[in-house]
Amino acid sequence: MGGVAYFCGVEPTSYRTHGCGNLRLSQVGQTIRVAGWVRRVRDLGRFVFVDVRDRSGILQLVALEGTQPYEILRSLGREWVIQAEGILQQRESPNPELPTGEVELRVEKVQVLNTSNTPPFLIEDETDGQEELRLRYRYLDLRRPIQQRRLELRAEVIRTCREYLRRRGFLEVETPMLIRSTPEGARDFLVPSRLKPGSFYALPQSPQLLKQLLMIAGYDRYFQVARCFRDEDYRGDRQAEFTQLDCEMSFVTQAEILETFEGLVREVHRKVADTDLEDFPRLTYTEAMQRYGSDKPDLRYSLEWTEVTSWAQTQPVPFWQSRRTFWLWLPEKKASRKQQEAWQTIAKENGASSLAFIHQEGAHRTSSLAKFIALDEIQLPGDGMGLWLTTDKLSALGAVRQAIIHDLNLTPDKPWSVLWIVDFPLFEEGENGELVAAHHPFVHPHPEDIDRIETDPLSVRALAYDLVINGNEIMSGSLRCHIPELQMRIFRRLGLSEAEAREKFGFLLDALGYGAPPHGGCAFGIDRWVMLLAGARSLREVIPFPKTASGADLMLGAPAPIDPQQHAELLRWLGQESI
Ligand code: ASP
Repeated sequence: MGGVAYFCGVEPTSYRTHGCGNLRLSQVGQTIRVAGWVRRVRDLGRFVFVDVRDRSGILQLVALEGTQPYEILRSLGREWVIQAEGILQQRESPNPELPTGEVELRVEKVQVLNTSNTPPFLIEDETDGQEELRLRYRYLDLRRPIQQRRLELRAEVIRTCREYLRRRGFLEVETPMLIRSTPEGARDFLVPSRLKPGSFYALPQSPQLLKQLLMIAGYDRYFQVARCFRDEDYRGDRQAEFTQLDCEMSFVTQAEILETFEGLVREVHRKVADTDLEDFPRLTYTEAMQRYGSDKPDLRYSLEWTEVTSWAQTQPVPFWQSRRTFWLWLPEKKASRKQQEAWQTIAKENGASSLAFIHQEGAHRTSSLAKFIALDEIQLPGDGMGLWLTTDKLSALGAVRQAIIHDLNLTPDKPWSVLWIVDFPLFEEGENGELVAAHHPFVHPHPEDIDRIETDPLSVRALAYDLVINGNEIMSGSLRCHIPELQMRIFRRLGLSEAEAREKFGFLLDALGYGAPPHGGCAFGIDRWVMLLAGARSLREVIPFPKTASGADLMLGAPAPIDPQQHAELLRWLGQESI
């Protein structure tokens, strides 16, 4: 988690004078009182040593045989809560692993404040507890120092964002949790209304419309650390409830928005990761798809596809004739037959028609295409492996690129890659071929493409951008439609009649009619960003009380059945008297 000094100081109270982790050689000779949890007890006969832990760190306590504290220290169990007082002394054999490793407390008084059951797993960074068990006892899992560091880092990221945004004139405003549906492409969590049976609130998928209304209200620059809810199928590492840093600005261009948030990202990385980020390259969506096959490419790795369709179609390779072909060269690399087959399967699963290879080692060339083309005529820069991927679905390029990075265990060229993707499409095709908003329906089309909204919607670009860090979409945003007629044109194109649009978004259309300023903004996925900064492997490691992949809180036992009376009431609220 790299070189950050967090504030883990502990305020003196009547229970303690110092935090366990804050003691150093300079305090030797002082009378010190600490309080915390027993990490372990080592009884060496003549001496007993106890490691005591609080959020600031770990301190070694020692008592000599024959003294009154000796008997108490020997009897302590793991995770008991104690208070100890004594004189700080220099250790005979320092422990270089611990910041307090040069000192120890020679205990004169000790008191047990509470006992503890034996914890079901080790409260250590390297624990023996499986994740399910740790989630069930999350309060013990969170007691592990590594977890405490992660939540401190999370707090530090949020604090840095708040300070930066305040300096840049943003006002923190809270928006409600019980609202109407805000489309972000996921299912809503619904809350039935008791006072209006048959009606429902939706929990926010994002505060999108409320922040736009704040711009119309003249607040100019807004932010919020907002909890958002999306009832999605729990694919991969997602959480139904997550935290966004949600922002909106008035009277700004896209370039000014990107500049503002580039500054924010730099400041956070400088503060919490001790890193000065390089300039953020900008790629259009089309470029990103053609070169990397992804709208969130991980550019820590330099491998990049080049389109070679016009050359490929002059070659006597039958399966190169009707689709686009892309080339990727990996110097000094080779792949086993098994790897080649695995990547061919991935290519096919992602809609590609073929994946062919060529290897060069010294004077020796091999290729799966030897029966079609003269291998000697191919220009190769040296030893290595080349791939030809034939596909009209560009995401296949990304899937194969990812698999190569993973399977060849490639080392990244740099620790961080941060880039902007711009010029996303405004619309895309839905599952049944219908037109849907590529992001949400409030995004402003690219001014050069507005004329094509009705005639060629899929070619219309949006004033929308994503920030990608190490292959993860960390922030996403856009300029918004602030002219009501333009917003209505988009709704119409999405298949909403005037009446339907008014029924769903009448308040927005009304508000746009009362002097909406040009505005735009974005939202950062705080959980994922903190996960990257913490070097954690899962979102669950940086969310204090996360849910499992199937949406369960194992500690609280949620979701849970409700009692019969609540159930009967619920049916009344749903507008159904009986089951
Ligand atoms: N509301 C968008 C989202 O949650 C972000 C934005 O457009 O500001 O993805």
